[in-house]
Parts: sequence; C-alpha cells; structure tokens
Amino acid sequence: MNNQVFEPNSDQPIQSNVCLPEIKVEDDRTGMTVETLKRAFADNLYYIQGKNEFLATPYDYYMALAYTVRDRLLHRWINTATTYLQKEVKTVYYLSAEFLMGRQLSNNLLNLNMYDRVCQALEESGLKLDDLIALEPEPGLGNGGLGRLAACFLDSLATLEIPAVGYGIRYEFGIFDQRIEEGAQVEHPDKWLRFGNPWEIRRPELTVTVKLGGHTEGYHDEKGQYRVRWIPDRKVLGTPYDTPVPGYHNNTVNSLRLWRAGASEEFNFQVFDSGDYSGAVTDKIFSENISKVLYPNDNTSQGQQLRLEQQYFFVSCSLQDIINTYRRTHRNFDQFHEKVAIQLNDTHPSIGIAELMRLLIDKYKLGWNRAWYITKHTFGYTNHTLLSEALERWHVRLFERLLPRHLEIIYEINHRFLEQVKVKYPGDGERLQRMSLIEEGGEKFVRMAHLACVGSHSINGVAALHTELLKERVLHDFYEMFPERFNNKTNGITPRRWLLLSNPQLSNLITEKIGDSWVTHLQDLQKLEAFADDPEFRQRFATIKQQHKQELVDYILLFNDVEVDPNSLFDVQVKRLHEYKRQLLDVLYIITLYNRIKRNPGIEILPRTFIFAGKAAPGYYMAKLVIRLINAVAKVVNNDPDVAGRIKVVFMEGFSVSLGQKIYPAANLSEQISMAGKEASGTGNMKFALNGALTIGTLDGANIEIREAVGADNFFLFGLTAQEVYDLKSRGYNPMDYYHSNAQLKEVIDRIASGEFCPEHPDLFKPIVDSLLYKDEYLLFADYQSYIDCQDRVSHAYRDQENWIRMSILNTARTGKFSSDRTIREYCQDIWQVEPITIDIEEYVQEEAGLKVTKPPLHI
Ligand SMILES: *Cc1c(COP(=O)(O)O)cnc(C)c1O
Repeated sequence: MNNQVFEPNSDQPIQSNVCLPEIKVEDDRTGMTVETLKRAFADNLYYIQGKNEFLATPYDYYMALAYTVRDRLLHRWINTATTYLQKEVKTVYYLSAEFLMGRQLSNNLLNLNMYDRVCQALEESGLKLDDLIALEPEPGLGNGGLGRLAACFLDSLATLEIPAVGYGIRYEFGIFDQRIEEGAQVEHPDKWLRFGNPWEIRRPELTVTVKLGGHTEGYHDEKGQYRVRWIPDRKVLGTPYDTPVPGYHNNTVNSLRLWRAGASEEFNFQVFDSGDYSGAVTDKIFSENISKVLYPNDNTSQGQQLRLEQQYFFVSCSLQDIINTYRRTHRNFDQFHEKVAIQLNDTHPSIGIAELMRLLIDKYKLGWNRAWYITKHTFGYTNHTLLSEALERWHVRLFERLLPRHLEIIYEINHRFLEQVKVKYPGDGERLQRMSLIEEGGEKFVRMAHLACVGSHSINGVAALHTELLKERVLHDFYEMFPERFNNKTNGITPRRWLLLSNPQLSNLITEKIGDSWVTHLQDLQKLEAFADDPEFRQRFATIKQQHKQELVDYILLFNDVEVDPNSLFDVQVKRLHEYKRQLLDVLYIITLYNRIKRNPGIEILPRTFIFAGKAAPGYYMAKLVIRLINAVAKVVNNDPDVAGRIKVVFMEGFSVSLGQKIYPAANLSEQISMAGKEASGTGNMKFALNGALTIGTLDGANIEIREAVGADNFFLFGLTAQEVYDLKSRGYNPMDYYHSNAQLKEVIDRIASGEFCPEHPDLFKPIVDSLLYKDEYLLFADYQSYIDCQDRVSHAYRDQENWIRMSILNTARTGKFSSDRTIREYCQDIWQVEPITIDIEEYVQEEAGLKVTKPPLHI
C-alpha cells in the first residue's frame, strides 16, 4: 500500500497498487444455477436481513431476493460504467423531474433472463415468486404519462446499449396513495422508503453543493477581466442514489441517478450552543424539504417556490456531476457538446440552460459566446403539453430572490436573442413581446418554454399532431425563427414491461407463432397478421384475454366488492383525472344507457363493465368531483334491479404502473376521448392497443398514428378534429344550444342535476352541471352525439365476437411502431448523435449446469 493520503470523500478511485483477488463465478453473489440462487437467497436472508425461516416476514424474503438479484446486476453495472469511462463515449443525460419506474424486481429478473430459475429456486425453498414480487412498494416518483415515458426510455436506452444516465429527484414521498372513501378520493402519504430500498446505492462521495438565494457581485479577476460572483445565503447538499437500469438480455446496466437534498452542516452549532436545540435543526429540515415530496400536479404549474427549488436543485446537482464526469477525461470544454447530450423532459429542468451558462462562465471562466455555443449544442428540449396552464412561468421576483445570478444570465440571453429577432423582423415590436423570455405587463414572469427553445438545438413534440400544433400555434414564432430546430418524436412504450411482463400468456403465444424477435423489434409483430384468420390462434388469443378479465374480476370483487360479469365488454378509461381527458364524457354515455334501461327495462343491451382508475391532483376540485360522480353513478347503476347487472361501473383506487399492468391486458375497449388538440400524445393508448384492446378515440395525440397503423376499420373514431375544435371555439361555442336541441343529452344532464345520484346532497354535482351548461371548455356537448353513436357501433361490433377478436389481433399485430425502442432510435439519430456501445463480458460455460454464466470483470 502506498502512503498517499486520501480525502475521505474523494470521488477518485485508487488506481495504484490495489490488487484484489478475482471474484469467482460460482460465488454466491454471481452464480446463476438454481442451487447457487437458493444458497444466495438464504445467505442474504441471514446476513443482510438478519433472519432465518423462523423469524422472517414475507418482506424479509422479498428483501433477500432483491439483494440476490442486485448482486447479479452489479458486475454488469460496474463493467458498464468502466467501459463508458475508458472509451470516453458520448453519453445521453435524460433530465426529468419524474421517473415512474414501476416495480423493479420483476423487471430486473426479466431483463437479466433469470425469471424462471429464480422461480424454481424459490419454489424449492417453499416460496412463490409472484407473492414476493407483489410485496414491493412501487416507487411512484411521477404523476402519469411524462414520468412513465422517462422510465420506458431508460429501458430502451439500456436495451439499445446507449450510454445514458437518467437524472432526477429521490422524493422521500412519491405520488400520494389514493383511497376512495365514501366515493371520494382521499390522499395518503406514500411512504415508499419505509422498509428500505434494496435497489439503490447511495454515493456520498459524489455529494455536491447547491447554492440558493443571496446576491451577486461584480469584480475584476487577475487578468483584469470583469466577472460576477454569486454570494448565496443558503447552501444545500445533493447526494446521489443510483438505481441500476439493465438492458434486456444484454450486458448493459445504465444508471438512474436521483438526488436527495440535505443540510450542508448537520447542526448550526452557534444556535445549538445558545440552547435553541430545535432552532439548530431547522436548517436541516428546510434543506431536506427540497426532496421531500413530489408535486402531485399533472399538466399544471402551480408556481410554488419549493417547486422551483426542486427543479434547480436536481438540475444543478446533475450538471455539476456531468461536468465532473467529463473532466475526468478532458482538460477543457472543447469537446463537451460532442460527449454530452442533455435532454430536457419538458421545461421542468430547463433552468439547466442558465445553470450550464453560469458554470461555464463564472466557474470555468469561458467567454459568453463559447459558453453559449456549447450550451446550445448540448441541450435538446421535449415539449409535452398544449395546455396553457401547464406552461411554466416563474415570477421574476421569486427568481430574483432564489436565483439572482440566473436571472442576470437569462436577461443577457434574452437581450442577445431579442437583438437577433430585431434583425430578422425589423420594427415588429409585438413579435418581440411575444417571444421575449420575460413576460411583461403588470407582474413579470420568466417563460421557461422560451428559455428552453432559445437554448436548445432541438425542439420536439411527442406525436405528429402535437408537433404540428406546436409549430402552428404554441411555439409558432420560434418555429418561424428556427424551423430547423423543430422535429417530431412520437412517444412509445417498452414492450418488455407492457407486454412481456404484464401479459406473459400472450407473449408466449406470440413467441410460439413468430419467434421472440418482437421483444426487441416490435415491428415483427406484423407477422401475426397471418394468424388473424386462423381459428386456433383466434381461440387462444381470446382465451388469454378472457383469463386476464377473470383475474380482474377477482381483483374487483376483492377490492371494490362489486360482482362483474367476465363476459361483459370491459370498457376501460384509466389515466390521470383531468377535464381535458373527458372522463365525464364517458359518464354521460353510462347515464345515457341507464336512461334507456329506465325507459324500457326489457331493452336489448350489450352487457358492459365500465372500469375507471386514475388520481386527481389534490387541489383540483372539478377532477375530484368527477371521481365522486363516477362512484355515485356506480352505486345507483350497480344496484338498480332494472339494470339487472347488465351495466356495472367500477372505480379502482390507486392507479399505478402495477395496477396498470393488471388492467391494460384485461381491456376490450380503450377510452382515448380527450378533446382533439389537447392530449400531446398519450401512451396509455399504446399499452391498450398492444394488448389487443380496440380504441374508441378522437383524432388527438398519438391516436391518429395508432389509427393509421391498425387501420380505420379496427378503430372507433368519433368527434371533432383539432381544426374543427379551433373553428368552433373561434365562432363562439354555446353548449346550451346542444342541451336544448338534443333530448337524450338533456335527459342525462337533467338526471345529474336532479340530485338522484346523491340524494343526501342533491346539489353535490351542480358545479359539474353548471360548468357544462355555461362553459363546457372541452366541448363534451359538441362531441356527445358523435360519441354515443360511436359507442353504439362498438356494442354492435362486440356482438360479432369472431370479427372483434380478429380486429383485436390486428391491433396487437400492427402496433409495433409504438415501441419506445423506435422512439429512442430516432432521438439517437436526429438529436443526440450517439452510438451503441456493446459491453463485453468474458463468458464461458459453467459445465455442470450447461448454462452460460458471465464472468465478473477484473478489478481496475
Ligand atoms: C401509461 C401510464 C399513464 C399515461 O396514460 P395516458 O392514458 O397516456 O394518460 C399514466 N399513469 C400510469 C401509471 C401509466 O402507466
């Protein structure tokens, strides 16, 4: 050992005389035989959980298994990191305030190709794998589609062997647990870390400091150059926690690196010495608040200081970390944008543009132009919404208080940008106002989407229509100025989680017929078209759907205490509760059916089960009231003897990735009924179609592309187009006209208004009725008749089961385009310019088992 002195928290590995023995493959931490797995499991139970079979709880078994799997990820993980370092690869950094990963154990077993062996090892130990998988608390570090997209992207990046890191926040409390009490949503804190998280590794040596508040000062450096320094009044520490992200059946294991906030000094001793113990810990508490809880708003910006602190915190940590990584192998910033691609998942991390400028100029002393060139060539921006309430704007006053240096930098970016605009459009003062990064007129705001557009070389929407609407409307001025920056990247979903893991029965059937290439080349599902008319295949396809429906029936009986007919049409709308998504339109159809039955109880009606799930933002009054309406309608309809069980309505509580994995495969009909021009893409629509549900939908988001792919005959289309919505609103829309001219609609609204769905509070749903009659912002009335007619076509079509199954098969066969692998390939080629790097791990055959076992790498 040399006698060099090391900083205890140095992040530099010791390169010198360390020489460790090779890790052996038959080792309990790496071996893949069933025998080794059993031994490793028992060992982890004993030495990590401190339990034996007489003391262990089910959760102890889960933890022991999780550690057994993690051990087998580690040498691939280490090897991946080493390869990236040594090859100086270009790396994608995906910055996202949300990652909705879903359960890890099952996914890791799948991607590591050890599901069956672990299943056997547990069985021989007297345990059932599925029982342990179900014990894992889901890390709900996201709200909905945006966070889930980030998780699908990580899976695809690792599967495509792209060097990539996901950066985000390690919220101590994720999205709240939703429970339904007396028909209403009640939020409970999500204590997902309560029993420890076996998948993360804390990296205290990589802790970074983040400044907040204070003021700036100008000074002249030794060379007489004018510079600015930022004197903060607070400092917060960011400590990374890494979670492995394995690719499917390859050796790549990328990282999800989430930051936790902590106080820069554990105690303020001055305060402590003066006897104020609790005062001494307030700093700690305030600092830790930053990563305490996920904001539970989907598609809305609240403008809270803590939210801006969260965003800046994780972005600053991540950029410092990216620069530290880069500087291990580079002496200057000349190649930064050639080695680093940073993608902004919406505007939440867009402060990164000002932060990278600050770091390059103030800390690393680059000139403005050089720093700006590097910044622009590093960042890409993905827009996720067309809703104006979701566009982030921060009060200039708040910005000044929290990030005074960034505000100066943003002003300078804005000044230079507006000069450019003036040159291109002389005398167009209105355009200057529209495009400015600062919104003027009364209270001033920083417009984060404008910052993201100006500071990125790429701006993309997430479905073809969405990108067109960005170019035509939301970001039209920027499109005129920088047309070459705009591009579309239609979203996708990972087939590993959303077919292989959630629907193993269908996966096996598909693989039996066409081989397993579809798992990584989803377009190969096309080959299934040949079986759409094969009676045996149809039969098996239908049986699998029926099995999933039966499982959901059992689940609903257990949790909702509602008996559901497994042969009824399962009509499903699961997604965040939002007015633009129009869950309420679905309810109007249910009441329409109910009215028909009440008028004529003997009427022929197709039995349907309406299944809803989804969380509403806790402060979103209307969305929460819609949940109450669904449950109120459910109570009446489910128990009315006239209905005689032909219609059931169920609201399943606690929608999550795990619940989605049970629901999507059991659906017959997928409700994608947003007002055209509002849903940027949707990804739930893709999960349903892949699992053989037919869509009833508007021409919105990716629905348009799904319809193109599966064929208009295999898709139930209704409603106004985005253009028609726009024109109708421009003409002046009056919902009352529809109410008075459509008797069926009037009857539905009158029934809600009558109070009969809630006799105890007859006025409960008046706000819903009023909002429809007097405003109807999302044009439910305008689309009502078209929707009802379309639903009636669905009922008719479902009666022809043979044809329905055929359409269902064609939906699965033709949704290959919607793999997130395809999306990620497009990002790689068009935006990031990154190439795959195969991770080589020496392999040899472990004789007695006949299994290929990967050998861990030599220590560096
Ligand atoms: C896929 C998914 C979503 C997105 O659903 P949309 O229908 O596209 O809004 C939201 N939440 C969860 C848990 C999901 O898995």
